[in-house]
Amino acid sequence: AIWNLGSINADMVYALPHLPAPGETLAATDLQQFLGGKGANMSVAAARAGSHVCHIGAVGADGVWAVDRLTEYGVDTRHIAETDTPTGHAIIAVDRQAENQIILFPGANREISTDQLGQALTQAESGDILIIQNETNMQAEAAKMGRDLGLRVCYAAAPFDATAVQSVLPFLDLLFLNEVEAQQLQQATGKTPMELGIADVIITLGAKGARHFCAETGEIQDFPAHRVTAVDTTGAGDTFTGYVLSGLDRSLPMPQAMALAARAAALMVTRPGTADVIPDLKEVQEASF
Ligand code: ADP
Repeated sequence: AIWNLGSINADMVYALPHLPAPGETLAATDLQQFLGGKGANMSVAAARAGSHVCHIGAVGADGVWAVDRLTEYGVDTRHIAETDTPTGHAIIAVDRQAENQIILFPGANREISTDQLGQALTQAESGDILIIQNETNMQAEAAKMGRDLGLRVCYAAAPFDATAVQSVLPFLDLLFLNEVEAQQLQQATGKTPMELGIADVIITLGAKGARHFCAETGEIQDFPAHRVTAVDTTGAGDTFTGYVLSGLDRSLPMPQAMALAARAAALMVTRPGTADVIPDLKEVQEASF
């Protein structure tokens, strides 16, 4: 199984004639609400890829719909707590040129308790996968607990936070970075991915594909991206991560898991939207590229 300590957000997308200037009051012409958050996206991707995914997270009283939707997409939601703090949300203003401005309210995502985390992870079995990102609290506690319990501890360093990354590094088996995060990490630590002491490091490079660094063999392997017409790249990285984890969860060797993830992410960028449109395994296998 896969255990995901992860964020759950409401993405509120407001269409505007232009982005608001300081002091300006502006009426939106449209509002759409989506399920979002890196954590939720990864849970949906791994569940759609066929894995049992237990999401560990928190919402407010206003987030019941988000938990229902995760359940609908096949995610095990029994370890999602309801807190007094409102559900995390992103207020996304988009103008006619598709330029955006985002206000992120972490809310309940940062209210996960040690007890809640402990209760969830003690039900994990040795060899299960734990995935962590930076949109919740409890990263270091979870990574340490995961290592002590014999879980395969995985971490996506997004959004990048040098302090959070350094606090989990000693416990990691697998690290996911995009190109920008890889540069930020190298600046923060002065080390290359090979020098971090982590068994596997994966760096995604957008339309240029992805790269796997294996510490044991010292090998670097490249996985080209599929050529598609991209219409919306949000959630590409989260889909890629969720599919890699699901592949590993189903005992695929890393190259096969990465190849599957590249197909899933390529299909994902051809679709507008995030969690709601992450493709399932059958769609990914049948995609014509
Ligand atoms: P993030 O969204 O975290 O910044 P990336 O942009 O690196 O992540 O994308 C993750 C993966 O999604 C890439 O490794 C690639 O496989 C796939 N991908 C991203 N953009 C494209 C694209 N334009 N065409 C095909 N595949 C893409």
